[in-house]
Amino acid sequence: MNPENTGVSNKIKVIGAREKNLKSISVDIPKKQITVFAGVSGSGKSALVFDTLAAESQRQLNETYSSFIRHRLPHYGQPNADAIINLPVAIVINQKRIGGNSRSTVGTITDIYSLLRLLFSRIGRPYVGEAEAFSFNNPHGMCPKCEGLGIVKEIDTERLLDRDKSLNEGAILFPTFRPGDFRWKRYVCTGLFDNDKKLKDYTEEEWDTLLYKSGFKPPHPTAGWPKTSLYEGVIPRIMRSFLSKDSRDAELYKDAIDHVAKKGMCPECQGARLNPQVLSCRINGKNIAECTDLQVSSLIDFMHTVKEPVAATIVEAITLRLQQMLSIGLGYLTLSRETSTLSGGESQRIKMVRQLGSSLSDLVYIFDEPSIGLHPHDVNKINTLLKRLRDKGNTVVIVEHDPDVIGIADHVIEMGPKAGAEGGNVVYAGDLKGLMAADTLTGKFLSQKPTLEKEPRHPAGWLSIQNASKHNLKNVSVDIPIGVMTVVTGVAGSGKSTLVNQVLPKYIPDAVYMDQEAVHASSRSNIATFTGMFDPIRNLFAAHNQAEISLFSFNSQGACPECKGTGTVSTDLAFMDSIETVCDACGGRRFKKEVLRYILRGKNISEVLGMTVEEASRFFVEKDILQTLGRLQDAGVGYLSLGQPLSTLSGGELQRVKLAKEMEHRRDVYVLDEPTTGLHMSDIRQLLATMNRLVDQGRTVVVIEHNLDWIAHADWIIDLGPGAGQDGGEIVFTGKPRDIVNCERSLTGRYLKQYLR
Ligand code: ADP
Ligand code: ADP
Ligand code: ZN
Ligand code: ZN
Repeated sequence: MNPENTGVSNKIKVIGAREKNLKSISVDIPKKQITVFAGVSGSGKSALVFDTLAAESQRQLNETYSSFIRHRLPHYGQPNADAIINLPVAIVINQKRIGGNSRSTVGTITDIYSLLRLLFSRIGRPYVGEAEAFSFNNPHGMCPKCEGLGIVKEIDTERLLDRDKSLNEGAILFPTFRPGDFRWKRYVCTGLFDNDKKLKDYTEEEWDTLLYKSGFKPPHPTAGWPKTSLYEGVIPRIMRSFLSKDSRDAELYKDAIDHVAKKGMCPECQGARLNPQVLSCRINGKNIAECTDLQVSSLIDFMHTVKEPVAATIVEAITLRLQQMLSIGLGYLTLSRETSTLSGGESQRIKMVRQLGSSLSDLVYIFDEPSIGLHPHDVNKINTLLKRLRDKGNTVVIVEHDPDVIGIADHVIEMGPKAGAEGGNVVYAGDLKGLMAADTLTGKFLSQKPTLEKEPRHPAGWLSIQNASKHNLKNVSVDIPIGVMTVVTGVAGSGKSTLVNQVLPKYIPDAVYMDQEAVHASSRSNIATFTGMFDPIRNLFAAHNQAEISLFSFNSQGACPECKGTGTVSTDLAFMDSIETVCDACGGRRFKKEVLRYILRGKNISEVLGMTVEEASRFFVEKDILQTLGRLQDAGVGYLSLGQPLSTLSGGELQRVKLAKEMEHRRDVYVLDEPTTGLHMSDIRQLLATMNRLVDQGRTVVVIEHNLDWIAHADWIIDLGPGAGQDGGEIVFTGKPRDIVNCERSLTGRYLKQYLR
């Protein structure tokens, strides 16, 4: 490949791309314009945009490092293509969660916190010191009690004590406090308690003495009490021996402690993370922790009150960044929010803020479905931002299904015509107008307007949620209909996830909750193992070949010894994301060579794992395997391959795979969080049909969804808002789709009305 600039050209040219399912295709991407890649899921959009374009840019970038650094970077193979010409540096902004430890907050990751520290060190009073001192990650700034974490471990008495037991029966559930243990004697020999009385019968005073009182000599101890000892309650005793910094037993009893400990707010700083000196320093009455606890929209107002001329430049810089957050629909976040609690969509938008701060131009920005998690109202804000990036002289490449985002494209490239082997071609390239007239799946759906022709189903009953007040929810009471499909709507940050994922489980604990959270599974889990069909597949291989079944497991003797069966090797880079590269020894096939000699109907185990769900359902004839494959197809993931590791799935794909697994056990209530993520309009129809079948069988379905097509097909809508954060958290509308379009206060209603026309 020739990275050299071939003179004056206003196009990035990809020639003969063959990654994944791409059929040796060539595309031109106009520079300094917005190009949207559309097409059904599995058509090859990622293969072209991420595996070819972005990968080549990263490879070229690595070539520019000194050989010293390059040696430490994983070796990138060239993408499988004949040539890629005219490619600027690419910046990929995806939905991979930022994650991070609890010291990483929205403020630190956007650098706004360091600007705030600078501001406080300049004009905060009383003057404390350098900007560094305002950092909770610096020993001079951090609260000494919690070391800047804002939380401390405390003992959960519910887990520590069994109230149905007496001291003699072993009421204290902790090693060294069990009957006969030396610490147990420090309670039963005090003469303070009736050792046969069950804890639940203790008076308040006895309870207080057992747990908390300390520092006195028991007046009437029994034999076995060490005469000079002072009494110490169970809680201070455990804190001292197991939870203090210099405790020697902490490591030894780590598991026991984890079992009885819970996280509580730090009693010294009340969660502010900083020491009292730093917290005493104020600007216009607020300290730095109070500033980071304001939601961004309110912090902007506060910044307007700071008028000291010496601080003008810093205030301007802070306000600019905060405005950027506001403009992409993140005004409801606080700077103190830990990045590990952000959703994928929020993480992606935070990454955008970091990019907007830079003044670089002539880059390629590559976005992976930026509309995720966004109400149509928020999508308009993102669109503004994408256009601004273009107008700064950058090339913007977007993989997207949302009609509103496709709507801002200067150029559209549609991949298809279908998924997997039936995709991998360019079926349309040109402007938007041409796409609307094109006979392609995207063209058809874009030009087709839905109607409200569907008659909503009647609920079989109602479930009442009462006085919910978590996060921003304002004492919300709402009824959820049983036996129909309810869609929960509202702008980002209005409180949908809080209501559906945190409050609802308290009312329907046995529902199936399918959020986009990563499955806690090892990197070895893939679709086949997760859905349980790998066992019958291995059995087939073993039976056909009269071989041992364990050979066909990449967790045991059949595994490639180099990568231990994961197929990839991960390299940690201190200053970047760690990078996964294909294992050299097995070429990513995960098995030892010997194992690959065993064949079932012409395929080895690695080839079977490489099949898509659709291909596999033509390959297998066994009923149990076919049933699992059928459920995966129903859930809209027929294009994924059996061996695809769960860790590589997008949030939406993971949710749909979980759905397929859950449909095996017939449950009454299904709760989904934005199931259309990553799906083309035609795939959405398929998933919607699957969910409708569940409802027709008598089940209740509750989904958080922004997709207007899906909303129009709901039986019942619960709309939250009216705004985000403090401005949201109320029920704006409940009722049928045809009624929300006339609800003036509902943003969802307004957008649905426009969309239906
Ligand atoms: P999209 O981004 O459009 O959803 P992808 O580019 O991720 O689709 O995938 C395109 C197709 O290529 C999918 O059907 C996928 O299963 C298939 N695929 C994935 N890995 C390979 C591979 N190594 N060889 C051939 N096809 C592959
Ligand atoms: P939606 O799902 O409608 O986008 P959320 O329920 O995620 O909205 O958020 C509602 C409000 O609760 C927002 O102000 C958000 O910042 C806040 N919030 C959500 N999760 C957390 C959390 N883990 N910690 C603190 N605040 C949170
Ligand atoms: Zn503290
Ligand atoms: Zn290997």
